[in-house]
Amino acid sequence: MKEFDCDVLIVGSGPIGLVCAYALSLLGYKIIITEQKKNITKNKFFFDTRTTAISQGSKIFLEEIGLWRHICKFSEKIKNIKVMDRNETNKINFFHNLKKNDLGYVVKNTKLINIIKTALQKKTNVISYYETKFFFIEYKTDKIIAVFNDKKISARLLVAADGKNSSVRQLLNTPIFKKQYKENAIVVNFFHTLKHNNTAYEFFYKSGPLAILPMQSENLNHQSSIIWSNNKNYLSSLMLVDKELLTNILEEKIGNVIGNIKQINSKQIFPLSSHINQRFYEKRVIYIGDSAHSIHPIAGQGWNIGLRDIKGFYELAKKTNELGLYLGTQQFCLNYNQNRFYDAYQFYQVTDKLNLIFKKDSLILNYFRSFGFNLIEKNINLKKRITNFAMGI
Ligand SMILES: Cc1cc2nc3c(=O)[nH]c(=O)nc-3n(C[C@H](O)[C@H](O)[C@H](O)COP(=O)(O)OP(=O)(O)OC[C@H]3O[C@@H](n4cnc5c(N)ncnc54)[C@H](O)[C@@H]3O)c2cc1C
Repeated sequence: MKEFDCDVLIVGSGPIGLVCAYALSLLGYKIIITEQKKNITKNKFFFDTRTTAISQGSKIFLEEIGLWRHICKFSEKIKNIKVMDRNETNKINFFHNLKKNDLGYVVKNTKLINIIKTALQKKTNVISYYETKFFFIEYKTDKIIAVFNDKKISARLLVAADGKNSSVRQLLNTPIFKKQYKENAIVVNFFHTLKHNNTAYEFFYKSGPLAILPMQSENLNHQSSIIWSNNKNYLSSLMLVDKELLTNILEEKIGNVIGNIKQINSKQIFPLSSHINQRFYEKRVIYIGDSAHSIHPIAGQGWNIGLRDIKGFYELAKKTNELGLYLGTQQFCLNYNQNRFYDAYQFYQVTDKLNLIFKKDSLILNYFRSFGFNLIEKNINLKKRITNFAMGI
């Protein structure tokens, strides 16, 4: 079995593991990143039709590490967000001129991953291994050794970026709080007749929230993406109906805020669950992104929180490097946990409770929701605070 050595081993090359590898490479560490699947850029069967809404806070960090200039060309700005409860009577409009900056940016997941991979190829201190299945962990005094199907990799620190069903977490028995939602989410990308004017919409229906994200136009066609949480069986049945019926159903749900649906380009279903690890570290291991926490996509923040993990980790690693200390010590892992746990926990709770409040239908709750919408719509300061939260700054 081949043996390799590095400073940081990142397990999982999803959109979080990749950005983490890129950020750390700037500090001069020797990094190995492993992925159990084939290299998706070469795999024509790779299928993720989702888009990611990148918050302003994430954009600022991506700028700092030099990735934003590659991503921005393929992203669409969000300048306004319109939130509606059940119907148009309860609504809040968040404008980008409340803050000087844009509210966010929308980019296709496949594009995002390809851009980061291309940028990583230029980094000589990063090695990527695909189709590498992780088996178990051993420890030496100052190293952790990960044993894979065909190789052993020793490192000062192992970063688990292997998603919500993290094998690292299962192997190390890190306890979690978990919630399985009764709903799934359907993601539909489509062309439409009117300009989206860089506006994102969120409709809160009893069956679950429906968001519309503005996308870059393609061949002069206005394009957007719907993310709709709803009953699992109902969404499965939508996957089977013909495009005309699906168009009618979606048009009935979204009204004509962006005109009529001209063409449905893709539809895909994603199961919904959320979890948070009771701690974000083990001996010589830290958890980042969905391996540490996964949340309901109601506010489009899952990846953005993962970026905050990377930022926290990056800043800690930078300080450690400057002090001539090693990564992966007990103190290092504890500091990372202290830096990240509470922030992620807040998002976990807020998104879960938002979903709960907006789904419930009762006279009292309807009254309070209506009262809350009016209050926020009229109160500039409150709006600013919510805008800052959504922008991740
Ligand atoms: C419908 C929907 C819409 C969303 N929209 C948004 C949005 O607009 N904005 C936002 O911020 N977030 C959004 N999210 C959340 C976002 O998709 C996730 O937070 C993000 O994908 C997490 O990235 P990750 O790299 O941590 O995990 P993943 O994307 O799950 O990647 C983990 C990687 O690790 C690999 N892996 C797993 N096990 C191993 C192993 N043992 N060895 C090696 N590799 C392994 C996997 O193959 C995978 O490539 C959305 C989520 C859903 C469900």
